[in-house]
Amino acid sequence: MNKRRKPTFYIGKKKKRLNLKKVAIVAIIGVVCIGGSVKAWSFVSEQRQIKLEQKKLEEKKRIEEEKRRKEEEEKKKYMIGVSHEAKKDSYDAKIISDKLSKYDYSNGGKKVVFLTFDDGTSTTVTPKVLKTLKDEGVKATFFLMGKNIEAGGDRAKELVKQEFKEGHAIANHSYSHDYKLLYPQRTVNLDSFKSDFEKTDGILKELLGKYFSTRVLRCPGGHMSWKGMDKLDVYLKESGKASIDWNALSADAQGKKKNAQELAEYAIKTSQGKEMVVLLMHDTYGKEETAKSLPLIIKYFKDNGYAFKTLA
Ligand SMILES: [Zn+2]
Repeated sequence: MNKRRKPTFYIGKKKKRLNLKKVAIVAIIGVVCIGGSVKAWSFVSEQRQIKLEQKKLEEKKRIEEEKRRKEEEEKKKYMIGVSHEAKKDSYDAKIISDKLSKYDYSNGGKKVVFLTFDDGTSTTVTPKVLKTLKDEGVKATFFLMGKNIEAGGDRAKELVKQEFKEGHAIANHSYSHDYKLLYPQRTVNLDSFKSDFEKTDGILKELLGKYFSTRVLRCPGGHMSWKGMDKLDVYLKESGKASIDWNALSADAQGKKKNAQELAEYAIKTSQGKEMVVLLMHDTYGKEETAKSLPLIIKYFKDNGYAFKTLA
């Protein structure tokens, strides 16, 4: 019987006999090495993937954080009913409200007047009032009525935006101005009161941005005119709001109809001797004489050294 010969391999020109065992070992080592490097490579790429994911997550977090910060900044801008730039022209309405309720019209030796306009916005009188305020370079506070804003359509809405943009303060004067709804039997109904004012707050947010809010309000008819206001005061205090009445008026909504001259005289008469004046006027429909009286009124306060400020 022929002895089985080991397989012969040729490397180059030399004839060499190779052991199968050796070949197997080399092959195994090769496989192990390749396997190892594949494993190492996939480990590296896995790590790279994790790092990439982490980076993406960090970036997402950073963007979210930036968004949150910007939102906070926006919120701060609109917390108090005037634009950020117009803050310098405003007084703290809560302090003024407290002083009014105590009949304290002092202001530390500095004369100050708050021109206030109720029941707007109207598409007829408000533009005239705004023009005079701009021409005279003075600021005012507008106590807006939601129902009138809606009734005035797009034009009225634009005027609210203009008031805000031009540095005037925006305050709430209810939606309906309906005494029967707000004060049945001359006594405040807190639920009706809150929901009526919230309705106007909603309209203002729609117009001035979701972060707009005003803490200043004026009760239709005046806080002084109604019963049961103690519970309203508790609510106002808890919610950080300030109700502002007035200590002077041009009487453009009471008594016999007056012309511009008479309105100015009434405003001056009721303001005299007061270091701090909160002057009540109206810029709703039919108040053309109020718009005409405004330059005369502003002249009086300028001549007498008053600073014009807003309530916010
Ligand atoms: Zn009113």
